[in-house]
Amino acid sequence: RWVEVGPLLERVLGDARTLSRDRHPIALEGEPRGAQIAGDETELHSAVANLVTNAVRYTPDGGAIAIAWRRLPDGGGELAVRDAGIGIAREHIPRLTERFYRVDLSRARDTGGTGLGLSIVKHVIQRHGGELEIESQPGRGSTFRLRLPPQRVRAAGPMAPSLRLVRREDTPPSAG
Ligand code: ATP
Ligand code: MG
Repeated sequence: RWVEVGPLLERVLGDARTLSRDRHPIALEGEPRGAQIAGDETELHSAVANLVTNAVRYTPDGGAIAIAWRRLPDGGGELAVRDAGIGIAREHIPRLTERFYRVDLSRARDTGGTGLGLSIVKHVIQRHGGELEIESQPGRGSTFRLRLPPQRVRAAGPMAPSLRLVRREDTPPSAG
């Protein structure tokens, strides 16, 4: 099944704004309209929603959050969630996707998670043939990227057929 990236991210943006209750500026970046991912919509939504829930949870009020889509040079695609939150120390990053793993949060407010979110995210992206990349700097923020391979991504949509039609109309009639 082909999942529309635009509506998926609009839905996640809505979830994020509800969760944040206007405490963070949240933006949608890139041009997801028309882009599609081969996969399971419920799973893909749960992966991005987990990342966005983390971004809201681990970003102090006023910190910016972005949800982004871009095509990769190899023809694949990338869904990313970026925050200007508390960040994660380097030594924790390799363990974040272990079940129940949580960074010591004594310096943060009580956030009350179970430590399962990122293990689900990793599972979902692997089932879609992709990978999770995590980049973070303590005190500056984090970026979580879901990378999808070219065979899982396409740019089809309402534009493609009409573009073909325009080209055909432009072709001069053949001399008979
Ligand atoms: P759950 O997702 O099950 O409700 P959780 O958010 O604690 O609980 P994960 O989503 O797996 O669990 O994240 C694991 C840990 O990684 C978190 O406890 C937190 O310490 C750290 N973490 C995850 N996302 C971020 C982020 N955006 N900024 C800072 N730390 C993060
Ligand atoms: Mg979480």
